Amino acid sequence: MKYFSLIFAVLLGAQSVYALDVVYPKKNDVTINSPSTFFVGNADTSIPLKINGVDIPVHKSGGFAYAVKLNTGKNKFVLESGEEKQFFYITRPASRYIGYTTQNTELPYETARTFVTVQENVPLRSTPVDSGNNRIAHYKKGIPLFVVGEKSGFYKIKLNSKEFAWVAFSDVTSADEFTPAKLLRREVVDNPDYYIFKIDFDKKVPYLIEDEHPLIVKFFNIEGKPDNTFIFKFPLKQKLVGYSGEFDGNTFVLKVRKFPKIRKDRPLKNIKIVVDAGHGGDEIGAIGCLRNNEKDVNLAIAKTLETELKLRGAKVVMSRSGDETVGLLDRVKKTNENEAMIFISIHGNALPDNMDPNEHEGTSVFYYYPQAKPLADSILKSMTEQLPLSDDRVRQGSLAVVRNTAALSVLIEVGYLINPSDNAYLLDKEIQANAAKAIADGVEAFIRE
Ligand SMILES: [Zn+2]
Repeated sequence: MKYFSLIFAVLLGAQSVYALDVVYPKKNDVTINSPSTFFVGNADTSIPLKINGVDIPVHKSGGFAYAVKLNTGKNKFVLESGEEKQFFYITRPASRYIGYTTQNTELPYETARTFVTVQENVPLRSTPVDSGNNRIAHYKKGIPLFVVGEKSGFYKIKLNSKEFAWVAFSDVTSADEFTPAKLLRREVVDNPDYYIFKIDFDKKVPYLIEDEHPLIVKFFNIEGKPDNTFIFKFPLKQKLVGYSGEFDGNTFVLKVRKFPKIRKDRPLKNIKIVVDAGHGGDEIGAIGCLRNNEKDVNLAIAKTLETELKLRGAKVVMSRSGDETVGLLDRVKKTNENEAMIFISIHGNALPDNMDPNEHEGTSVFYYYPQAKPLADSILKSMTEQLPLSDDRVRQGSLAVVRNTAALSVLIEVGYLINPSDNAYLLDKEIQANAAKAIADGVEAFIRE
């Protein structure tokens, strides 16, 4: 193989179109704390590419990706494309035991203490961990909670005799005794677009919303109810298409969007949809094999989707229409201010160091709340049927933009920018247009069903 590469280098080196461009790792001398990592970049397709003497396939687009193992200490890699050589030094630090100083086993309190949330949007979690799909509610400021123990920087909250939750130390402060609340009054407000329920208490209480059929809201520490729990059930005769539930003073307001009247032949007519091109401006997102930026791919697909949805009669709001920096919460805010029914975020995928970009490909659709899963399923089905990209599954993911319940919120990872084949598809104008059409078909199918 040595002769082969040498001959090619001599014959073709001079007419080389691409220089060897390594996109990842970003520098020649880096520290990566992982048992493996990968090289991603682009090279001349007519010259053999080698990493430490091993031939690496180069995709016809010029893109390549190759996973390498890392030993602890300094790892040297030589990348050769014809006569061109680049050297990389990747240091993998020796693993060492880090002693824990935080309370790592559960410490129960002898008597319950009362705490209260101190800021807006406080996550209540099912486990004492600050990650994963464990958020079960988000509270505004001033919700009282019974604390019965602690673990790893979280307080254990007792909701009733069977249900518990966790809240971070920094999200609450101690408060006066929390005596049981009185349920005062229930009222249904007439509205053409929403079912609105107002439930008055004499003080704020903890609650959980379960967005299945029926929609259930459980209120805790309520006087005169079994296990001090008042269960409000709303037997929906329609698909759930967005809701909100929170305290306004001592009144809990539950707003459930009515399923719009649709025309079978034009199901998207007048449906308000936010199309969100991921990242933008200072936030590039992932970088593809051909040094293409995720933010640009996202915007190209999002704009095509905007056109496609408008043609079908939908009212489309773009979270950004150009190369602008827009915060995650601003994207959610815009969705809620516009009272959009559907939120679709467009992204391209990448991977952490310990994964192999050649073993991950295709489209995945993320949702967080159960109400959005049927929409995610419908979009993925349509995309995998119509595009050459493979099925990388519908997944539940705790991503800030899909943790909005007022709209059905999904995030589409159209493909992997660091997978050479996927990346070539993502840059193909025809495939971008087909992706937009497939997404619109998926939304339409969901609404029509
Ligand atoms: Zn992204």
